[in-house]
Amino acid sequence: MRANEILEKLGIHTDRSNPGAFVGGKGPIKTGGGELVSGNPSDGEDLAAVAQASSDDYAKVADAAYDSFRSWRMVPAPVRGEAVRLLGNALREMKEPLGDLISLEMGKIRAEGHGEVQEMIDICDLAVGMSRQLYGKSMHSERHRHRMYEQWHPLGSIGVITSFNFPMAVWAWNAAIAMVCGDTVIWKPSSRVPLCAIAVQKVADRIQSELGYSGVLNLVAGSGSMVGQSMLEDERVPLVSFTGSCRMGRRVSETVAARFGRTILELGGNNAAVVAPSADPELAADSILFAAVGTAGQRCTTNRRLIVHSEVAEELVSTLVGKYESVAIGDPLDDSTLMGPLVTVDAVEEMKNALDWAKKDGGELLTGGEVLEDLGPRFVTPAIVRMPEQTEIVRRETFAPILYVMEYSNIEEAIRIHNDVPQGLSSCLFSRDLIEVETFLSHMGSDCGIANVNTGTSGAEIGGAFGGEKETGGGRESGSDAWKGYMRRQTCTINFSGGMELAQGIDFG
Ligand code: NAD
Repeated sequence: MRANEILEKLGIHTDRSNPGAFVGGKGPIKTGGGELVSGNPSDGEDLAAVAQASSDDYAKVADAAYDSFRSWRMVPAPVRGEAVRLLGNALREMKEPLGDLISLEMGKIRAEGHGEVQEMIDICDLAVGMSRQLYGKSMHSERHRHRMYEQWHPLGSIGVITSFNFPMAVWAWNAAIAMVCGDTVIWKPSSRVPLCAIAVQKVADRIQSELGYSGVLNLVAGSGSMVGQSMLEDERVPLVSFTGSCRMGRRVSETVAARFGRTILELGGNNAAVVAPSADPELAADSILFAAVGTAGQRCTTNRRLIVHSEVAEELVSTLVGKYESVAIGDPLDDSTLMGPLVTVDAVEEMKNALDWAKKDGGELLTGGEVLEDLGPRFVTPAIVRMPEQTEIVRRETFAPILYVMEYSNIEEAIRIHNDVPQGLSSCLFSRDLIEVETFLSHMGSDCGIANVNTGTSGAEIGGAFGGEKETGGGRESGSDAWKGYMRRQTCTINFSGGMELAQGIDFG
């Protein structure tokens, strides 16, 4: 009943298929990619059906986005910013039902679902300001009466492929910035959460049609192998921003690079907290709990490894076990719940397999790892496993709430263990020792894109550039100068001397 109310508020049909492809501002197009039924991970019930896009439908939407780019890039950047401001306001008005839909279709708790919508609003606010700050540098020429400067131009119609775990915010990180940069956007959402994408697209459609723009923000919900692959191979798409697993990211990177396209890759993480003897124990335990158990361990920034000094290991681990065992697990739409379900039964299987593997490697399960069948087959208890060393299973990202604990005896050893994984997204140190803190943040310290001190691995703010190194892909999104990834740079030289003077003092006769 509650599900229907939420869907109704967002204009999602429960009695017939919802269109999966939209040309922004013009509404849905007819699709031929077959029907996909999206379900609720909490109770396994069907929510609504989607008429998916096929490769041909993708081509129609991509044509529209390509054409619209020619007019959208002519709109002055601050005027584009005004459109993003109105989009942000529309999202503000719809925050409650959009946040609830995230809980309903993806399974994260209400507070986190609403937080995700807030993140969309925040990035819109940031982008509005950015629309007046797409600065280029000027530089002094070595030649007389010459002027040199750099400017940034819109790139084109860009592809945005998003993961299931942030079904709305990842699109907004890309879309708001791309819009002010003068790009048009084609969004391919995860097939596990198409309703979230359709609900957001409806809001974006309304704003575009009210402002008289079309084809700026577009949607193609369809299978990865059809729609996703078509996008990767599409020469008209100069940039694909991809958020997902390292496995898929490798394929995206290779396919797009083969046609000299650009990518922004936001891939898997294997994030660790290092806890030193001087750490505030309560702060460390609470921060690790949120980062490891929040979103049921299904955040790219989830705290998956705890590297703790042997002097404080026993105390911290026993505090954590106590906190883990009191986490309220259940319906993500119930405000008292702290942890909802995993997204699929396959994800539960992967968690069980990882725990079996860890035990074979000498790991000791300290708590959790059970399936709560009375709640449903996707509900699990979060697990803590003490490991004798960092074995292969610890070095992998298992998208579930498992925290592997390892001990260290000096900060150099902690950093060595910390960096000895293929991924490089987020990291943190809990310490009140200045030398340790500076070592961790120095070039000899964490090798991740995000390095925090006395705050956990997850819950980044949109003001900073977000992304990671190594197999996390090297992409940057959100704040700081991440906007440069959505534009093309041009270096200009103007000669106002009236004669020819060559650089490097070359005399050409
Ligand atoms: P996934 O790799 O399974 O899917 C990601 C997207 O790729 C989906 O939209 C999917 O439909 C699409 N896809 C599938 N086949 C494709 C193809 N042939 N061509 C193009 N696209 C195709 O990832 P997921 O399970 O949805 O998300 C979880 C993963 O995402 C985790 O590894 C997590 O760490 C990562 N993630 C990273 C960040 C970050 O910012 N670094 C943020 C969120 C999630």
